[in-house]
Amino acid sequence: MSQGAIVLADDNKLVVKITSAILEGAGYSVSVAWDGLEAINKVYGEMPDLVILDIEMPKINGYQVCRLLKDDEFTKDIPVLMLTGRDQQTDLFWGMKTGADAYVTKGFKPEQLLSEVSEQMRKGKERRSLDKKGKAPGKVLDEEGVLSRVIDLLDSKLFSSTILNEIGALAGLSQDYRKTMASVLEIISWVVGNTIGVVLLFEEEEMVLHVSRNMNFDELKEVQKKAFETAASYGYDRLNPERVKVDIFGEENIAKEKEGEKRNFSFAHVPLSVQKRIIGILMLAGPASPAFARQAEMVLGIVQNQATIVIDNARLYEAARQLAITDGLTKLYNHRFFQELFEKEYKRSDRYNTIFSFIMLDIDHFKKVNDTYGHLCGDEILKGLADLIKGCLRSMDIVARYGGEEFAILLPETNGEEALQTAERMRMAVESQTFMGDDFGLNITVSMGVATYPSPDIRGRSDLIAKADKALYEAKESGRNRVVFVE
Ligand code: GH3
Ligand code: MG
Ligand code: MG
Repeated sequence: MSQGAIVLADDNKLVVKITSAILEGAGYSVSVAWDGLEAINKVYGEMPDLVILDIEMPKINGYQVCRLLKDDEFTKDIPVLMLTGRDQQTDLFWGMKTGADAYVTKGFKPEQLLSEVSEQMRKGKERRSLDKKGKAPGKVLDEEGVLSRVIDLLDSKLFSSTILNEIGALAGLSQDYRKTMASVLEIISWVVGNTIGVVLLFEEEEMVLHVSRNMNFDELKEVQKKAFETAASYGYDRLNPERVKVDIFGEENIAKEKEGEKRNFSFAHVPLSVQKRIIGILMLAGPASPAFARQAEMVLGIVQNQATIVIDNARLYEAARQLAITDGLTKLYNHRFFQELFEKEYKRSDRYNTIFSFIMLDIDHFKKVNDTYGHLCGDEILKGLADLIKGCLRSMDIVARYGGEEFAILLPETNGEEALQTAERMRMAVESQTFMGDDFGLNITVSMGVATYPSPDIRGRSDLIAKADKALYEAKESGRNRVVFVE
């Protein structure tokens, strides 16, 4: 009785002769194929207990045959043993990638081959007994059929690697990190189509939506709600939807549908996990059809790792960037970054002939506050003042901690008169605010100098700063708690 049926594929007569002899001597029945195509046909036709493949063969090489067999549910449990003339690492790597079960280097000793064969055959039998599908029909594909399967297979691999390349390419772009996330979603929705992509980052409390289908606001809300529910299913139930910053890309597609007519969605998602820690989710919402769900899940499966890497990098990059431009105490921009923004605004003003104003603000007698209540109390006031100032400004205005207790404020598209009003409003707001310490309330005042560009006497950024500084000095000299504007 045969110990088992083996398909042996090799184009070298000598190797075939020796190998067959060893196997047959041990009681196996051997069916020989001389190229990859014949190997595939023999496997489908005979459903052997084991396949031995040479790597370099005519028509289709051993890797491709292996990949094909391992991707077919009828043949995937059949053990594949690769017969390699080399034992280099890359061969092993590719072999494993294609799903080969074991390797035998040509020039093997008979007992090596036989022990590997019986070991793999045993494992294969185990797998098949678990899998209740049983043996495949003894089908024989024609050459065209086999080739078209190979092409399908390569196509789908190519498809995967193309998407992954696209996403990987985003890693090199140092753009806004929300845009990076939107670009990841854009690539995915370009593949899946008719979808809303969502990235929700837990710690950042940041949600990016990419909308590539027409929808209304009710539907948008439903998608967001689902994202929060999904986050909660990972233990992030403390996310406050009010606080999460939402960025929507593809806004032009929203509200094209009638309000009220809410359609059903199907959702698919994967967690974004970095070193076993889940930092967020990647979710797709689309038509409530099994076809969409299936495709969405497939694509998410393909992109999960790569997307996580790109998003995590963008996230870390953003955190590092924020750290580099922010003042630790007040969370305002720091001096260095302010100078950069100042330079940009200055150039923009020159190019487009726009007006902007600059305010220098300094706390009055702050040394006394420190001396009386302590440095920590002083720090608390600096923080409170930063928030208060921001509250008095428009979103386009830029405020920075310029020095110890000095703040710099840039007001784009703002003339002197308007800047003066803004400064006066801030002065009054500070004056009437009580800053709370542990067991006392405390009032402070501030002085400000205002300057505007363009102005005939200003030829550079430093002239403008000097002018505001001078105005601030005048405000101090003339009694503090006031604003001075130098024309
Ligand atoms: P003036 O009205 O002339 O501006 O008086 P002033 O006391 O505010 O000005 P001065 O320049 O003499 O002192 C500034 C003080 O601001 C000195 C320092 O104790 C305080 N200061 C600067 N940076 C910090 C900080 O980061 N934290 C705290 N708590 N105090 C700071
Ligand atoms: Mg001061
Ligand atoms: Mg000062």
